[in-house]
Amino acid sequence: MKKIFLGCIADDFTGATDLANNLVRAGMRVVQAMGVPSQPLDAEADAVVVALKSRTVPAADAVQESLAALRWLQAQGAQQIYFKYCSTFDSTARGNIGPVTEALMEALAEQPGADFSIATPAFPDNGRTVFKGHLFVGDVLLNESGMQNHPLTPMTDANLVRVLQAQCRRKVGLIDYKVVAQGPEAIRSRIDQLRADGVGLAVVDAVSNDDLMRLGPALKGLPLVTAGSGVAIGLPANFGIAPSNTASALPSATGFQAVVSGSCSLATNRQVAAFVASGRPALAIDPLQLAASGGGETAVSQALAWAKDLLPQGPVLIYSSATPDAVKAVQVQLGVQAAGDLVEHTLAAIARGLVDLGVRQLVVAGGETSGACVQALAISQMKIGPQIDPGVPWCHAQSDAAPDSGLHLTLKSGNFGTDDFFSKAFTRLT
Ligand code: ADP
Repeated sequence: MKKIFLGCIADDFTGATDLANNLVRAGMRVVQAMGVPSQPLDAEADAVVVALKSRTVPAADAVQESLAALRWLQAQGAQQIYFKYCSTFDSTARGNIGPVTEALMEALAEQPGADFSIATPAFPDNGRTVFKGHLFVGDVLLNESGMQNHPLTPMTDANLVRVLQAQCRRKVGLIDYKVVAQGPEAIRSRIDQLRADGVGLAVVDAVSNDDLMRLGPALKGLPLVTAGSGVAIGLPANFGIAPSNTASALPSATGFQAVVSGSCSLATNRQVAAFVASGRPALAIDPLQLAASGGGETAVSQALAWAKDLLPQGPVLIYSSATPDAVKAVQVQLGVQAAGDLVEHTLAAIARGLVDLGVRQLVVAGGETSGACVQALAISQMKIGPQIDPGVPWCHAQSDAAPDSGLHLTLKSGNFGTDDFFSKAFTRLT
């Protein structure tokens, strides 16, 4: 088995896919694992992204899980480790970006150069830029972007040097845009200077993909890189890898096509409306009816009976997606958590049933919904394929529900994708 070049640890599920997508576009063959695998990698890959759910768990748990991921990635031969977090630097005053980064640095301490790492959530393609250490989301600072009101990780300070310093024991510095603009040599000299000044971690400015491409070569040989998904575009070249279509090659698609949507985000609601307007078959799931009938079992069998005769004619959509007002009304009656769990379990059982009926091309909309569906399908790893829209690739996975050919699936987080995503996705596979 060939060793992997890049070993990645992502602090959430759809973020892992976002990173994998960027690596594939830069030419790497990438496998995404759901959690730390218990077996060695059984596929040829240049990079593996281990997807954790460590963003908002207690810092000590995030550290333990990340170290377990590190050990597995090292056993697969990873030459460089990439810790991936959100492009809005989602964290609390105590973590988990700082504690995980420092724990990884300590675990890698025997490798030359592991006394220093960088941090930048810059992802210009998605409007995330870092200037003088400050993170912008589109045209506004992070703390004015809506992220200041996030229920779990409110981001009230856009100065990332300050934010990261509050989470770290090591001294945090800055590699600013003037240095980055001068290219890899200047970045490397700045790193040497920061090291000499006792700085262990530096936030890096980047306002364009050109900045990220200049940063890439400067990071060659650094044992640990920490970043959003943007930095990934400049790393594969360090391993002699160039963009190519073969990186995203997946087995030929077979079987029926279906969409399961539990996301109520604005973009998803538009995608549902566009699919319905196109005249394709669509079935709405009503959470209040689910609750009234004592759970989802009846709804699952009704939905599958509805889909069975339609599937041979083309893609079908089964959705609980609803407007914010409708969602609120359901949450008032059932409770936020209970409503979410009920809908997720029902949609996951429907996804499983659809695959049992012969669906082999499955679109799932919603981050939490995707987690539930992947679990119901007992999927432990996926090969990452071609991009459908930024941040959303097709993937191929083995599942005991699809023992013949495996399954093509795409996991779309709420606000990603154009309005025609649910139809366009299938044409991308043919
Ligand atoms: P997104 O990626 O858009 O945030 P998620 O799947 O992560 O989507 O989250 C959507 C949540 O809303 C899930 O927990 C889902 O079960 C729940 N949900 C879906 N439809 C409804 C609905 N009609 N009413 C209430 N909750 C819903």
